[in-house]
Amino acid sequence: MALIKSELKQELKKYGAVDFNACYNCGNCTAVCSLSTEDNSFPREIVRYSVLGLEEELQSSLKPWLCYYCGECTTKCPQQAKPGELMMSIRRWLTARYDWTGLSGLLYKSGLLTMIAFIIIAIAELGFIMYEDFNVMKIMHYGHYFEMFAIAGVFIVIFLPNIIRMWYFTMLKTEVKMSVKSYSIAVKDLFVHMFTQKRALDCNENKFRWLEHFILVISYLSLLFTTVFLDWFASENLFVIILGYIESAVIFIVTFDFVLSRIKKNKEMNTFSQPSDWYFVVWLLLMGVTAFLVRLFIDIDLMESNAWLYYFHLMILVQWALIIVPFGKWTHFLYRSFAMYFAKIQEISK
Ligand code: SF4
Ligand code: SF4
Repeated sequence: MALIKSELKQELKKYGAVDFNACYNCGNCTAVCSLSTEDNSFPREIVRYSVLGLEEELQSSLKPWLCYYCGECTTKCPQQAKPGELMMSIRRWLTARYDWTGLSGLLYKSGLLTMIAFIIIAIAELGFIMYEDFNVMKIMHYGHYFEMFAIAGVFIVIFLPNIIRMWYFTMLKTEVKMSVKSYSIAVKDLFVHMFTQKRALDCNENKFRWLEHFILVISYLSLLFTTVFLDWFASENLFVIILGYIESAVIFIVTFDFVLSRIKKNKEMNTFSQPSDWYFVVWLLLMGVTAFLVRLFIDIDLMESNAWLYYFHLMILVQWALIIVPFGKWTHFLYRSFAMYFAKIQEISK
C-alpha cells in the first residue's frame, strides 16, 4: 500500500517548488510535453505524487530526469501550477535523496549555508597560501595536484555510492526484473546522453539552448583534460596552450549568456532561479575567465607580480570541486545520464 507523507509538499517547497497544489489533474501538461511518451508519461503523474505526498513513488521514479525543462507545460497549465518548475525542484530533491552524506539537501535548502561553506574554503586557502609563504609557483604546483586528487576523491567517495543509491531506489526496489544482458546493451545510451544530451533536441523551441549546452559540456570536459592531464598552466606546447585558451574562452562566453538569460528571465526555465542555479553559472563563468587570465599572465610574465589572480582562480576552483560538483547542480548532469541509462534498461526488460 502506498505510504502518504503529509510533510512532502512543504519539503518540496524548500527545493524551489511553487503553486503545484493548485493542480486539478486535467492532464494538459502531459498532453503538451514533447518528451512524454506512452511508456514514460509525465509531468501530471509527478504532480499527483507530489500533491498526495507519495514519497516512495517519487523517489523511485526516473521521470523527473527525463524532463529537460523547456517550460511548455508551465505555459499551458490552466491552473498556473507550474509543473515544469516542480519537475526541476524534484530533481534537486532527488539529488539530496541519492546523496549519502546529506550535504546536498542542506546546501540546496540554504543559500546561507552554501555561502558559509564557500567562506570556510576561502579562509582555508588563505591559511595555506600564508603557510607556503605566498610562493605562487609552489602553490600552482599544489593546485595541479589538487585537481587530480579532487576528481578521483569526489568520484570514489561521493559519486560512486550515490549512483549505487540511485540504482537501488529506481531499479532494485522496483518490481521490473532486469537481465544482466540489458545492462550491457543499454550502456551505449549512458555515454551518448552524457556527452550529447540529445533528448533535449526534442524539447520544443530548444535547439539553440541544446547547442549551447552541448558546446559547454564539451568545452568544460576538454578544459578539465587540458588542465589536469596536459598540465595547461605549466605546458610549453603551443597546441596545448592555444587549446586551453579556446576552451576557457568558450566556457566564459556560453556561461555569460546563461547568466544574462537568468538576469533577464527571458525564458520560462529562467523565471525561478534558485541559489544553486546562480552558484553553478557564476562559478563556471569565473572558472572560465580566471583560467584564461592566469594562462595569459603566465605568457606575458605577469604572474609572479599578480599572484592574487591565481589565488582567486584557485579559490573558485576549490569551491567548485568541493561544493558545486559533488553537492550542487553539477550532479544533475551525472544523474540525468544514469537515469537515461536506467530508463533504457527498463525499456529493454519489459
Ligand atoms: S499541472 Fe496544470 S496542466 Fe498539469 S494536470 Fe495539473 S492543472 Fe492540469
Ligand atoms: S518542462 Fe518541458 S520537458 Fe519538462 S515536463 Fe514540462 S513540457 Fe515536459
